[in-house]
Amino acid sequence: MEYQEFKQKCIDIFALNNFSAPIDEQLKKLFTLTEHMLEVNKSLNLTAITDLDGVILKHYADSITVSKYIPENAKIIDIGCGAGFPSLPLAIFRPDLSITALDGTAKRIEYVKGTAKLLGLNKLTAIAGRAEEYANKSDFRESFDVATARAVAALPILAELCLPFVKKGGSFVAMKAAQGENEASASTNAIKLCGGAPAVISQLELTANNEDFEKRVIIVSQKLIATPAKYPRHYSQISKKPL
Ligand code: SAM
Repeated sequence: MEYQEFKQKCIDIFALNNFSAPIDEQLKKLFTLTEHMLEVNKSLNLTAITDLDGVILKHYADSITVSKYIPENAKIIDIGCGAGFPSLPLAIFRPDLSITALDGTAKRIEYVKGTAKLLGLNKLTAIAGRAEEYANKSDFRESFDVATARAVAALPILAELCLPFVKKGGSFVAMKAAQGENEASASTNAIKLCGGAPAVISQLELTANNEDFEKRVIIVSQKLIATPAKYPRHYSQISKKPL
């Protein structure tokens, strides 16, 4: 992959989606991230998306769609970050943020840690652990301005996993594909029980060519009151009997 080709594709795809033009430093970091991710992906299952347009659109542009829901200098947690989405692109485009990337798979977290170091993203901390366990640790519970997650679980489950991390006045921001709208109506109870305000839903479309469009739904719930201590439950209960 040539840097010039990558750079032009990125600029074009960002422009098609009405994002601000990335600056040189951001483009160089995205290029390094792409080369590194695709290389590590040969031996570690990081992503099924390996074509250049797909990586730029579905990993980078998609990750950045959450940025406008995150206040300046916020402390955020990305639950189930996997190979670092949205954490890594957010850290590249929002150096003001302090980002904790959490995932239950230790190997992916080792990769995210190494990648953050390679890219000089020193405000990104990657932690291997389960959300339902970390949510009960005193330095994590009700401690973040924003808890976000992309492609981790259905919204009623995600609300119970994420809202306990959010401080009062902060927000839970879920990144979803087209099914997000239906999930939002099914999660009213879970969000309320975990201390969140009724969800506000935003829809958008992403495209790499102005012909094919992918629908995305972003669901935001503001934290109104502290999450009762009994949540989150054990994962077996959360998944068998979502709130
Ligand atoms: N957010 C990334 C993305 O959009 O590319 C990864 C999505 S991947 C489909 C889901 C990830 O969530 C997996 O890496 C999995 O280990 C993690 N995960 C699922 N449930 C979790 C939990 N309760 N605590 C921590 N990580 C979890």
